[in-house]
Formats: sequence, structure tokens, C-alpha cells
Amino acid sequence: MAPRFFNTYSREVEEFEPRDPRARPIRMYTCGPTIYSRAHIGNFRAYIFEDLLQRHLELQGYKVHRVMNITDVEDKTIRGAREAGVPLQKFTEQFKEAFFEDASTLRIKRADEYPAATDQRYVDRMIEMISALISKGLAYQADDQSVYFRINKFPEYGKLAHFDLTQLQSTGRVKHDEYDKEHIGDFALWKAWDEADGDVKWDSPWGPGRPGWHIECSAMSTALLGDQIDIHCGGVDNIFPHHEAEIAQSEGVTGKKFVRYWLHCAHLLVDGQKMAKSLGNFYTVPDVLAKGYTGRELRYALLRVHYRVPLNFTWEGMNEARESLTRIDEWLARLREVAEGANAQRPTPNAQRPTTTFEDALDDDLNISAALGFLFESIRETNRAMDQNEMDAPSANAWLDWWKRINTVLDLESETDVIIPHEVAQLAEEREKVRREKNWKRSDELRDRISALGWQVRDTKDGSKLTRGAGTE
Ligand SMILES: [Zn+2]
Repeated sequence: MAPRFFNTYSREVEEFEPRDPRARPIRMYTCGPTIYSRAHIGNFRAYIFEDLLQRHLELQGYKVHRVMNITDVEDKTIRGAREAGVPLQKFTEQFKEAFFEDASTLRIKRADEYPAATDQRYVDRMIEMISALISKGLAYQADDQSVYFRINKFPEYGKLAHFDLTQLQSTGRVKHDEYDKEHIGDFALWKAWDEADGDVKWDSPWGPGRPGWHIECSAMSTALLGDQIDIHCGGVDNIFPHHEAEIAQSEGVTGKKFVRYWLHCAHLLVDGQKMAKSLGNFYTVPDVLAKGYTGRELRYALLRVHYRVPLNFTWEGMNEARESLTRIDEWLARLREVAEGANAQRPTPNAQRPTTTFEDALDDDLNISAALGFLFESIRETNRAMDQNEMDAPSANAWLDWWKRINTVLDLESETDVIIPHEVAQLAEEREKVRREKNWKRSDELRDRISALGWQVRDTKDGSKLTRGAGTE
């Protein structure tokens, strides 16, 4: 069965049909961080949802090519650099590094490309797109020298957000005086340079200035993925005006349908409230780690609620995440014991391979709560079978194989949390090598040395695995 996703554009759950499933990978664009401060856990909720989406599609046999942009020039990064008294790039670099560090702590799979808005290649593309919009009458340069998109000339404007233009009010965030614009909803494509921008400026046919935020994503997505992309994601707060503007700009230039499926992740609340620095409930990934939790636990806590439902983050929820992971860890340890045990129990008639219900649940608009519900139901049942000695080694192996498969989506196994010391890793590597040469004596010696360092090496059909603790052999 093909996956089905809720498309924000149609407000309906639709069967997923990529534009060109055979010839090319799925083209997926996800709006990335604006690197003016460290991303908070609400941002990472959206990135984890996108990670889940990509991994599930890959498990279903699709190839995915994902682009995530890095917004390094817009109002907030410029203000931040000015206040810090450092060049823009120096200011943003630290938050870019922090973003990658946090994403790796949360085991988020890396995108194929991370274009930065300040890359000259993309600035050129933005200027090219703005010129095309002007020549089509879809944009104009106002008296303040900035260039704006003329929303009245794009009848589709407002369709993604499902509201009509007459409702538009000034957001108060527009830097330039709105009197210069023809319509209050016209948004800036190119912002004319002013003193507050310092040396952040590029030359353009409209004078020195810098791109608006929305055109950055239109330029980078079409430059890297082509005129038409399969999936575009972001948080719900990106729907308007950001994604609405992306549609207007991209389709205005290409005349083609820009995105097939728009998927948006709901907000994250903390203790039932919107996260805000002023409320003292604003957390970054290091804030959560500082309380003694692991990246794996935070990943679980951010992953476990359906992406279209607001997620309420609490410390109690973090403890529940820890408990759930302990149950998984203990279950896996038990299964491995049975799978490797010499005391092969008699095969039981009801020993069975797990069904595919977990993946079916994710096919259903990424219903992770149902998928996890099925996992824990399976854990309960198999634990009961093991309690009663009714699990044989082949059944245990079948369950472990199943876990390995679904864990390519979940990425929740504990071992990767453990940092293996360099010396131990080297010895294990050497041991693998001598085993391939069938030098068993040397292999045993190396096992003893690894054991003396407090690690146990276990040979499985997928190669050797290291766990903490001295070996018993
Ligand atoms: Zn974007």
C-alpha cells in the first residue's frame, strides 16, 4: 500500500505519488534553521518529524534526495551580528555548528545538501528569479528602492494558508514603510540596503541590498531540486507567509506547480504553554542534556507524538521516554539471550514473525503513536512468551530482525549512545581482521585484551558487537 499523507494544500489525506518515481529520487525540501541563536527543542521537533518521514519512505523502498537550507542572512542574523560587533559570517558560524551538533545528538539523518543563502551561486539565482518576476509584472521596485511581490497579480496567493487577502494586516515586522507598497500583503523580494545592514549587501539591478527570506528558499529549492518538488516540509508557523510566498515566487517564475505535498508539523508546547524566553520555559538540546537526559531520550520524547498534534513537552514526559527506552533495551537483551542461547527451546506452534503493522501505521500519515503502540504490545506479548519459556531461538531472531528493520526508522537503539574508547575499537577492528584470516588463536588473545579493558565482544551474524562489561567466557 502506498503511504498517505495529509497535504496542507488540499487539507486532505492523499495517497503519495511522487512525480517521477522510477527515474529519480523523491525530491524533498525542508526549511532549515535561521542561525541567529541556538535552535530550541520546538525547532528540533519539526526536524525529527522530517527525519521520520524520510526514513520511513526509505524503508518503503523510495530513494530520497533531501535539501535543508541554512538561513544565514535575514533581519535577525544581521541584528545579532551588529549587536555582537562581529561580521555576519563569524556570528552565524557558531550557531551553524551548534545546529549540526544538536542534530547529531538527536540522531537526525543528514540531508544530502545544506545550501546557505549567502552563497553567491544562490544570490545570483535569487536576483535572476526577481528579475523574471518583474518582467512578468509580478513584482515591482517601490520608492524605498526595495522590490516587492505584487500579490494581487497572483490569484493563487492565500490558497495554502486558506485565507483571503482582505484579511491581511500588517505584521509589524516589515522593515520598510508600508506606504511604499501597493498592497499591505506585498512582501519583500529584495531589501534595499540601509545603514543598519552595515557591510551586509550585494549588488543587484535595483541597487545594493539583500534578499528577502522567502526568495532564499525558492531559489535554493529550485536550484537544487528542479522546478517541481515532491515534498516540502516545515513547521505550521512556516505556512504563512513563508511557504505561501515560496509558491507565489516559484510558480510565478516557472509557471509550473511547485510542490506536490506540503507537510507541516504542529507546535511544541512546554508545560502546556508556548515556549518563550520570558516564561523561563525555553529549552535547547544542551539544556535538556544538562538535566541528565540523553539525546536518545530526547529523540524519543520528540518523536512519539503524531506530527500534526501539538506536543506538550514536560520533564515527566522525559522520564516516561526513559522508561519506554529501558523497556526496549531490556526486551532486546532478553531476545538476544534467547537467540544466542544453546538451550534451544522446543519450537512453539504460536511462535510467529511479527506482522508489518508498524509500517502500515506509518503509511497512515506517519501515525507514530499507533506504530509505537504496536511495538509495545509486541514487547508485552513476546516477554510473556519468554517468561513461559515459549520462545525458541528462530522466533527470537525473527523478532530481532524485525527490530533491526523498524529501528532504521526509529534509530533508538542504546548501543550507539555508548562511546567506545579508541583503544578498544582498534583492538576490535584488528580482531575482525584476524578472524577473517581464521587466526583463532590471535582472535582469542585480542578478545582477552578487550575484556581486560572492561569490554565484551560478541560475535553475531552481522559482525562483532561491543558492549560494556567484562566477558564471562
Ligand atoms: Zn524556507
